[in-house]
Amino acid sequence: MPPEGRKRRASYGLHTQKRIRKTPDPTKTTNINMKATRQTMQALALAWACLAPLTYAEDSQATKLLKKRSEHLKPLVTKVSPSVYVASGYSPANISMIVGTDGVVIVDTGTFPDHAKAVLKEFRKVTDLPVKAIILTHGHGDHTGGASALVEDAKAQPAIYARTPFNPEGAMFVAGGVQINGLRGARQGGFLLPPDKRINNGIAPAVNPPQDQNIFIGRPPRPTDTFRDGRKKISVAGLDIELVAAPGESADQLYVWFPRERVVFTGDNFYQSWPNLYAIRGTGYRDVKEWIGSLEAMINEKPAHAVPGHTQPIVGERRTTEVLNNYRDAIKHVFDKTIEGINKGMTPDELVEYVELPERLRDLDYLREYYGNIEWGVRAIFTGYLGWFDGNPTHLFSLPPAEEAKRMVKLAGGEPALRAAAARALKEDDAQWCAELCDQLLALKPGDQEIRTLKAEALEALAGKLITATGRNYYLTVAQELRKISK
Ligand SMILES: [Zn+2]
Repeated sequence: MPPEGRKRRASYGLHTQKRIRKTPDPTKTTNINMKATRQTMQALALAWACLAPLTYAEDSQATKLLKKRSEHLKPLVTKVSPSVYVASGYSPANISMIVGTDGVVIVDTGTFPDHAKAVLKEFRKVTDLPVKAIILTHGHGDHTGGASALVEDAKAQPAIYARTPFNPEGAMFVAGGVQINGLRGARQGGFLLPPDKRINNGIAPAVNPPQDQNIFIGRPPRPTDTFRDGRKKISVAGLDIELVAAPGESADQLYVWFPRERVVFTGDNFYQSWPNLYAIRGTGYRDVKEWIGSLEAMINEKPAHAVPGHTQPIVGERRTTEVLNNYRDAIKHVFDKTIEGINKGMTPDELVEYVELPERLRDLDYLREYYGNIEWGVRAIFTGYLGWFDGNPTHLFSLPPAEEAKRMVKLAGGEPALRAAAARALKEDDAQWCAELCDQLLALKPGDQEIRTLKAEALEALAGKLITATGRNYYLTVAQELRKISK
């Protein structure tokens, strides 16, 4: 769902359009009806004008929901089953402990050593047994960066389990010399924003990493025991545990199955939010088809509890079954509809209006777009299969931005008219259009501070109406960049 007010998604777009098409023949509409409609619209406009200042002073529905989410992200240790403890909210990613006979097994390490230390302190209230093994559900920095604190705490070097090739996403950026993902990641994470501009990260509390560190690449520890595919059974600290290859959010993802207490540790293939099928910091294709298969495999284990990579665990068999099934259904629906639209020849811009969640899944809190966004997932699926070309030959060789802008200025009746239209769009609460017109003007004069500031205002307006924390942070950070006087 885009920011509130940009009414283009099917939930209030396609269906409405269909209804409009079914309205009676307009030639049969009487003058009286038209007059009545005009009067109603004038009355509504007046009411809106009176209410508008109040409405602006209040949080949007999206912001209210995102603020409420912060409650869910507070530090909490949950005893999920007799031997399984989950620390959520101490770090962007969860840290879990399985208590064995002569040691404990840790699943994921949190983002920074200090976070892991804080969690260990809590876990030590339960047991003093040493860390015998660490399992990394995947190589992303938010799950691996705390490992050194856990290794330090252990009496002997613990085994570190992961899949191979480990952290291929980070390795690809490094090998290709791609660095911009560091800045884009910081924008997405809100790391460059003052604390009062951040609410949370949708599935994680707001945390600031050290300036020199790209947490999305991270500095993961070197795994000591790896496997490539299928299922690896391990026995450690008196516990029988199964590690299962589960590509999805990353190619190196695994889930942990603890059969004795029927607990599945899902990694980032599940958490309580619409998933990041695509991350706006920039990632290669996350294979959504495989992701669905991995959820299917977890469901087939018949778990009684699910421990996600972020957010609080799901406890109890009925709830776990229901949540995982709905989660799988939702992703599968979006995937299937996207492919259906692709085969009809739709472009990504058309697909995002075509694909929507079915009614029964739309308002489930664990599918809300706190972190990922359905539209971005739809675009990613298109690109994953077909690459950048949307199929419209006009776009094979698009006009360069400055050339298009020159023509737009002419069409608008000159630069002052285009500037006025951009300013008017914001006043009329059409922030997206304002930003798009600003882009035209900035293509010709990138340093124009008046337009940079206007675009910043448009982005801030969009941020205030978007529930997806990653997009909200990105809007606000770029607004901050635009407000800085350009040289
Ligand atoms: Zn994560």
